[in-house]
Amino acid sequence: MARYTGPVCRLCRREGEKLFLKGDRCFSDKCSVVKRGNPPGEHGQGRRKVSEYGLQLREKQKARRSYGILERQFRRYFEIAERQRGMTGANLLQLLERRLDNVVFRLGFASSRVEARQLVRHGHFQVNRRKVNIPSYLVREGDLIAVKETSRQMARFQELAQEAATRAVPEWLTLEPELMRGTVRHLPTREEIDVPIAEHLIVELYSR
Ligand code: SF4
Repeated sequence: MARYTGPVCRLCRREGEKLFLKGDRCFSDKCSVVKRGNPPGEHGQGRRKVSEYGLQLREKQKARRSYGILERQFRRYFEIAERQRGMTGANLLQLLERRLDNVVFRLGFASSRVEARQLVRHGHFQVNRRKVNIPSYLVREGDLIAVKETSRQMARFQELAQEAATRAVPEWLTLEPELMRGTVRHLPTREEIDVPIAEHLIVELYSR
C-alpha cells in the first residue's frame, strides 16, 4: 500500500496553509507554516502569478495531501464520485471522509490521519466487531467502529480516549469514549465535512 513518506510539513508549506498532518505539533508554535509560511524550495520566496489551472491543481493537491492519498487512488475516488448520483465534488469529499483512517481520526482515536492510518494498519480497530486493518475501508451508515479489546489498555489509547472525551465529534458520528467506540449515524453531507476545500476546482481540473 503506497503512501507518501517524505517530510509532511513541506506539504503544508507548499499549499500555504495548515493541513494538520502531525497531530499536536500542528497546534503549537513549532508548526512550520507558523515559523516560515513561504513555499519550500529555491524559488519559494518569489511571487508567482497563479493560473486558473494552477489554482485547480493546488486545490486537488491540498485535498489529496490532507487525506494522505496518492494520485492514482485519488483519481479512482473521483471516478466513483462521478458515477454516483448528486454533485461530484460533494460525493468525492464524502468518499474521502468515509475512509476508516479518517473516521478513526474524526472520532479522536488518533491525533492525525497519519497516526490513524498507522493504528489501523497495525490492527487495533474493529468494524462491526470484526478486525479491519485497511485504512481505505469505506464505512457505511450504522457501522460500529471500536478499538480492539486487547488494545484498549495501551497507554496511547488511554491517553487518546481521555482527549477524545473532551472533543466534539462531527454530527454524522457518535462517540462513546468510555467504551472506545463510535458509530456512523449517517453518511456525511457536505455541510458536515469540515475541510477548507473548494471541491468544484477539483471537478474542473479533472473535467479538462
Ligand atoms: Fe502542517 Fe502540522 Fe507541520 Fe504545521 S506542524 S506544517 S500544520 S504538518
